[in-house]
Amino acid sequence: MRTAHDLILAGGLRGKRVLVRSDLNVPLDADGTISDDGRVRASLPTIKALSEAGARVVVCAHLGRPKGAPEARYSLAPVAHRLQELLGAPVAFAADTVGESARSAVRRLWDGQVALLENLRFNPGETSKDDAARGAFADELASLADVFVSDGFGVVHRKQASVYDVAQRLPHACGALVQTEIAALKRLTESPERPYAVVLGGAKVSDKLGVIANLMQTADRLLIGGGMVFTFLAAQGHEVGKSLLEAEQIDAVKGYLDQARELGVEIILPTDIVAATAFSAQAEHSVVDANRIPADWMGLDIGPESAKAFAAKLIDARTVFWNGPMGAFEMPPYASGTKAVAEALAEATALGALTVIGGGDSAAALRRFGFEDSQFGHISTGGGASLEYLEGKQLPGLTVLEG
Ligand code: ADP
Ligand code: MG
Repeated sequence: MRTAHDLILAGGLRGKRVLVRSDLNVPLDADGTISDDGRVRASLPTIKALSEAGARVVVCAHLGRPKGAPEARYSLAPVAHRLQELLGAPVAFAADTVGESARSAVRRLWDGQVALLENLRFNPGETSKDDAARGAFADELASLADVFVSDGFGVVHRKQASVYDVAQRLPHACGALVQTEIAALKRLTESPERPYAVVLGGAKVSDKLGVIANLMQTADRLLIGGGMVFTFLAAQGHEVGKSLLEAEQIDAVKGYLDQARELGVEIILPTDIVAATAFSAQAEHSVVDANRIPADWMGLDIGPESAKAFAAKLIDARTVFWNGPMGAFEMPPYASGTKAVAEALAEATALGALTVIGGGDSAAALRRFGFEDSQFGHISTGGGASLEYLEGKQLPGLTVLEG
């Protein structure tokens, strides 16, 4: 796969219009301020390098899930502002994706200058399932540039116009972020140092079943927390009260528990749970045995005994992959389990282990708890993309760059 770095070394980018697909899908607070600019920061190296090489850099990205039409609350304008601050150079913001504003912003760029187009998902062609509709939008995007650089790792598992189709229309390369992400994931899949521990949590088991099946082939230990734990507990015949439960996945989970036994993979489930009467920080809550959750209570975090046991299984690991918080960490009474896992990963990293964290909410949790990115081996900007990669799936946005 050609990289943006290769293009720069080859020379000749000065004055060329380079369309960069970045992942600038940052979380916004209710008042529209960016609560975590990690993805903007992660996009800087490619944009800077191209700009320094004299390219006219046209950045495109999406924010949230607008329905194919402009919607003020999903505007990338605040992101353009943040990008400008972090770059320390002006960013021309286009008020549309491929319309008059975009075309004139691109026309007015000087060598080395950066423009950002408005939210790609304001155009229905971006995410259309119809190849022709996507292709038509990709044609318009491609007409804005001479070269395409794919750097939005968080979207490479999507067959979308700005990720997939545009790469078929322009000379292309991958950016520095995509390169870094793939290198980290390769270290997990190609002979990881052992013991290799995987921690999975988050809200839905169904999202993560595929990856559980695949990771069992390589991992030595599988630690399960978060909302998905209750489907595991139910599969073992326990009452889970009002906790998150995907009843239709119980049989699949039973199958995985059997398979783990056969493969000699250690599955670590919580033995105690922080349960509450409602999904609220103010609700009455207490620590209960994992196999005795009261019928009208719900589990919202792993308990303190489990947090200790999880940490013990992580600190001596040589490789750790973590996806998904251990509890509803956004509410302080249910944050301790996630914090304990984060601390154990930071400690394992300090002891020389390779730690990789995937998932937007997991990364947000780390930053909320005050950890520095440098305390971990690699924090992925793409939860879904990294899971699909680890599942062994072909990612359309990467496959298309091979051609
Ligand atoms: P990531 O973005 O890191 O991949 P997910 O999106 O899968 O993680 O899940 C994150 C969400 O899971 C968080 O918003 C958190 O509140 C929620 N969650 C974790 N544990 C529970 C639980 N026990 N009950 C309900 N929600 C939970
Ligand atoms: Mg999430």
